[in-house]
Amino acid sequence: MNNPPRRIYNSASVPQEECVFCKIVDGRLPSYRVYEDEHHVAFLDINPFSAGHTLVCPKRHGETLWDMDEREIAEVFKVASKVSMGVVYATNADGFRIMQNNGEAANQAVAHIHVHVIPNKLEDKGRFNRMKLSDKEMAEVAESIKAEIAKLA
Ligand code: 5GP
Ligand code: ZN
Repeated sequence: MNNPPRRIYNSASVPQEECVFCKIVDGRLPSYRVYEDEHHVAFLDINPFSAGHTLVCPKRHGETLWDMDEREIAEVFKVASKVSMGVVYATNADGFRIMQNNGEAANQAVAHIHVHVIPNKLEDKGRFNRMKLSDKEMAEVAESIKAEIAKLA
């Protein structure tokens, strides 16, 4: 496990100083933040598959799952699980999808590890379609998710 056989190719790979999610993590770029702890930040996806689509990021920069140790992998998925409850309660969803892309071949567009939490309603039948929410809608769903996560304690 300590010696992955090779790197995962990603054309989105950039020097850490230019990483968009590092900039969101440290506040250099704005985001609709729904959760933060010592090692993670969760914020709304700017181009969501459904209202409430959230990305959970480790604060420490790494490109793929292979750049994290086992404890970090466990922690980011634990946070994603907690965030999923806030997301599902806030959006009144019936289920949710967890997605985590690694590399060009998997359609990874931002080369900073992140776990997608995507709420689904029964009537959507698991369909995937990008959508655009207004700033007001983004702010409202973010507030609602944050409030639901806070209730979980
Ligand atoms: P990936 O394909 O790398 O797993 O997903 C990257 C996700 O990040 C996409 O769903 C995309 O909409 C989202 N995204 C890209 N740039 C930004 C940004 O600047 N802010 C936010 N909030 N999301 C972004
Ligand atoms: Zn980064």
